[in-house]
Amino acid sequence: MSIVSKSLKRIKPSPTIAVTQKARELKAAGKDVIGLGAGEPDFDTPDNIKKVAIEAINTGDTKYTAVDGTPALKKAIVKKFKRENNLDYTIDQITVGSGGKQVIYNALMATVDIGDEVIIPAPYWVSYPDIVLLAGGEPIIIKCTEEKNFKLNPSDLENSITKKTKWVILNSPSNPTGACYSENEIKKIAEVLKNHPHVHILSDDIYEHISYEGFKFFTIAQIEYLKDRVLTMNGVSKSYAMTGWRIGYAAGPKEIIKAIAKIQSQSTTNPSSISQAAAVEALNGTQTFISERSKAFQERRDFVVSELNKISGINCLKPEGAFYVFPNCKDLLGKKNKKGHFLKTDTDFVQSLLEDVGVAVVQGSAFGLEGFFRISYATSMENLKKALMKISDFCKSLK
Ligand code: GLU
Repeated sequence: MSIVSKSLKRIKPSPTIAVTQKARELKAAGKDVIGLGAGEPDFDTPDNIKKVAIEAINTGDTKYTAVDGTPALKKAIVKKFKRENNLDYTIDQITVGSGGKQVIYNALMATVDIGDEVIIPAPYWVSYPDIVLLAGGEPIIIKCTEEKNFKLNPSDLENSITKKTKWVILNSPSNPTGACYSENEIKKIAEVLKNHPHVHILSDDIYEHISYEGFKFFTIAQIEYLKDRVLTMNGVSKSYAMTGWRIGYAAGPKEIIKAIAKIQSQSTTNPSSISQAAAVEALNGTQTFISERSKAFQERRDFVVSELNKISGINCLKPEGAFYVFPNCKDLLGKKNKKGHFLKTDTDFVQSLLEDVGVAVVQGSAFGLEGFFRISYATSMENLKKALMKISDFCKSLK
């Protein structure tokens, strides 16, 4: 009999992490692989941030910290919410964890009971449903189609809410589609939630700073009548190219914040003291870095979308944010690759793409929508040019 728990058997390993790991291994084995699987900026962490981290080490800031974040970092987060989102929070409404993923994990573990429902619009980030399952909850998936720009329709949300609904998870700019919700669209979702006071909202804002063409970011906690029911999650990973430092944070109702701290006190104790010092500098220091890098991301997006749409059988929307595109490859499914294997599903498609031409992407079904794949264009233009040529040749070779 297996020692593995029943709850762990409900989940699978993260597919985004798995493809990143596979690409890493193939490269280490000397294979020519272009990784467009990992959702992390290729840029380096800015020097001012690194410098503060080195100072933290040299001055002995190397001990345990307060469980859910140092007072200095919590203050910087309070200031960030005021400065960028016009949201007022007090220190005791802030929590810091080892990455956005841990904050979401803690929040769901702390609040979801067996049988509780969590509404997740698909395409979704791969980890939401599995964390819900691990907590004993039931993910309620609402499919948001390409025709609707992969966005949640308010009436679909209304129809999915039951007495058991505990949370709705929102994510804009979205991973994996890059879709961004305007203020107006968020207000329409808020109107539905207004009538269901037992439902809480987890807003994953990790891609806040990566958007294009003057898109105006708006987050659901800015709607006054909902603020008491919203947990707003964010972090330094994507905005400041700090994925490896593992610092995520959230703001929300004190009861949830306290519950999160209780879990953290029994798991990781606190996020790394050095990374927290660095995150203070990221949030309080110069922000010029963000707009400069957004420009580079926009160029890459334009290139990738236009090249993908030149390929017969591929259709790709042009998203307003994040560093992902989510092309449709349904017309290519059912064809045979060079080895004569039928590519029946998007999983077959991405596996063949990796094995035959060495380009790593993630299948749409991992994000809850079959017939698509996700490209992360957070890599150099040179890599993107090579990769798009290979994808094009691969698609042309299918018979
Ligand atoms: N969020 C990124 C992605 O989707 C990082 C990997 C992960 O944690 O899923 O690729």
